[in-house]
Amino acid sequence: QRKEWEKLINEPSETKDGHEVELAANIGTPNDMEGVLSNGAQGIGLYRTEFLYMGRDQLPTEEEQFEAYKTVVEKMEGKPVVIRTLDIGGDKELPYLDLPEEMNPFLGFRAIRLCLERTDIFRTQLRALLRASSYGNLKIMFPMVATLEEVRQAKMILAEEREQLIEEAIDVSEDIEVGIMVEIPSTAVAAELFAKEVDFFSIGTNDLIQYTLAADRMSEKVSHLYQPYHPAILRLVKSVIEAAHKEGKWAGMCGEMAGEETAVPLLLGLGLDEFSMSATSVLPARSQIRSLTKKDAEKLVEEALTLSTADEVAELVKEKGFI
Ligand code: PEP
Ligand code: MG
Repeated sequence: QRKEWEKLINEPSETKDGHEVELAANIGTPNDMEGVLSNGAQGIGLYRTEFLYMGRDQLPTEEEQFEAYKTVVEKMEGKPVVIRTLDIGGDKELPYLDLPEEMNPFLGFRAIRLCLERTDIFRTQLRALLRASSYGNLKIMFPMVATLEEVRQAKMILAEEREQLIEEAIDVSEDIEVGIMVEIPSTAVAAELFAKEVDFFSIGTNDLIQYTLAADRMSEKVSHLYQPYHPAILRLVKSVIEAAHKEGKWAGMCGEMAGEETAVPLLLGLGLDEFSMSATSVLPARSQIRSLTKKDAEKLVEEALTLSTADEVAELVKEKGFI
């Protein structure tokens, strides 16, 4: 099967009725680029920059970060690269930052919350990103956004760093898209408000599912409640995509769900524009998409949205012959 998939490396991710989507890869470090290129990913949908900060005893410098971001955008040769600003906290700790011990780290001081307080760390990263932007198609994404104030504040700091670089006569791309992860229910529910102030959404289902069902994504004991196909998740994903499109923005997904065989036809039917997954899932997903029509996927999801449980949804996808 691998041989069949390999033929699709340079083929479009297009349905039989001519609807094209982007199949992108998630990466953690520039070392992952080999897998991205050999699997024919059309972009990077999520670069988790926290790994640059982990496994060491001090913050990475602006220069170190710049080199990492530049390497990735250059290797993608103009294809889109969505770089997420630091998403530390939750399960990912940085011993040298001396963060507070919390009862509920997943609900605590992490990601954009931390960056908006430790603006020294945030500004250094934004400078590195802005400098790297002139070497390719770099997009900036903020994680764990819960309120519009966070988006506005983050964008304001970004604009200030941009001005500063221009003053220093350093090249910065003119038109960097700025988007957010939609992974907190407040943002998913009010997506139409956020869509007016960002260039794109990327739905982070790993967190969105855990917060919506109140089921820790790391807990064995409640893993039966961690349900990607729960009617609530399908409805949220649908309305987030619609909210983006209503404002002429694009919507992607970079949680694990985006690469699942059962999810692909449903997400296609809901109109998802970009699917970002582990590099090894890109070719199987492309093969699957090329075997479908958008029309059939739309019919499938319409019926899925009438069902009451996750099991019924997954069963329907099978029953209708989509997997
Ligand atoms: C997500 O929450 O879906 C996501 C992609 O981010 P992470 O897995 O890094 O939390
Ligand atoms: Mg997340």
